[in-house]
Amino acid sequence: MAITDFERYPLLFGPSPVHPMTRLSQHLGGPAIWAKREDCNSGLAYGGNKTRKLEYIVPDVLAKGADTLVSIGGFQSNHTRQVAAVAAHLGLKAVLVQEKWVDWDDPVNDKVGNILLSRLMGAEVRLDPHGFDIGIRQSWQDALAEVEASGGTPYPIPAGASEHELGGLGFANWAYEVAQQEAELGVFFDTILVCTVTGSTHAGMIAGFAALEEAGGRPRRVIGIDASATLDKTVDQVGRIATHTASVIGLGRDLRDDEIEVLPGWAGDYYGIPVDSTVDAMKRTAQLEGVILDPVYEGKSMAGLIGLVENGTLTSDNTVLYAHLGGQPALNAYSGII
Ligand SMILES: *Cc1c(COP(=O)(O)O)cnc(C)c1O
Repeated sequence: MAITDFERYPLLFGPSPVHPMTRLSQHLGGPAIWAKREDCNSGLAYGGNKTRKLEYIVPDVLAKGADTLVSIGGFQSNHTRQVAAVAAHLGLKAVLVQEKWVDWDDPVNDKVGNILLSRLMGAEVRLDPHGFDIGIRQSWQDALAEVEASGGTPYPIPAGASEHELGGLGFANWAYEVAQQEAELGVFFDTILVCTVTGSTHAGMIAGFAALEEAGGRPRRVIGIDASATLDKTVDQVGRIATHTASVIGLGRDLRDDEIEVLPGWAGDYYGIPVDSTVDAMKRTAQLEGVILDPVYEGKSMAGLIGLVENGTLTSDNTVLYAHLGGQPALNAYSGII
């Protein structure tokens, strides 16, 4: 099997845009930095990285005749908002378990931003007091059982669409999309930098770029910046999903340890709580580029990119592609940080 053998249900506008971040690059004085924009990849409720993953899951949803997508995330989950949008687009129902993953006392945290959009799109939103965990949760299994008991046909989509056998394919294909865009633009990105939490975005990229390299492409480094603050679980999950995805797209060799690189240092102590470096990265990117980052994910991965330039890991010899995975709707629940 190769990535092209998997069915893909179109939810995106097409290849997501790639552009240089000229003023940010000049300001940092190191590598040329470009962005690839999953935050504007689709017309479905602002899109994002989960919409790309769902392109490879929807064919299975339809094949199984499901009528209700059941998923899980935090109150301000971008993932569940994208599941709600895809459900509306397909004429299906959505049941979303929204756990209190973040102890953030903004009074509208469970009312504005992503959760507001999910409600607007007709999803059944269930607030749940449990804290952050990227693993499989009882509340989600209970929701699945309830849909079944009431005569529906649920389709389970785990947190971030990661622990799903097809979850890594969207971003394995992203690697091929990057290679195509590089050929068109006459540029080569030796370093890819991506935020990682539930893992299948980064894992899919690892598998896809390994397959491209195996087919004769130049080697490159895919750096995941941890935003989970539960590093061991995330590293484990990235490794597991990357190995599985690489195998199903026919890599034909084991992944090397050095191909699975998740860097700690910018998550702070808790998932979903921005730290000084997060807000600093958000402000610099907004003020130099007019590009908006969120405080949960992209602000942290951009802080990682800035940190790696400032500590000399990434230099003017590098050309870096920053994967912007979306997430801006959550900003509304964090007005206090700005
Ligand atoms: C989900 C998400 C991530 C993390 O992706 P994973 O595949 O869960 O590791 C990063 N950024 C944004 C905006 C997200 O919504």
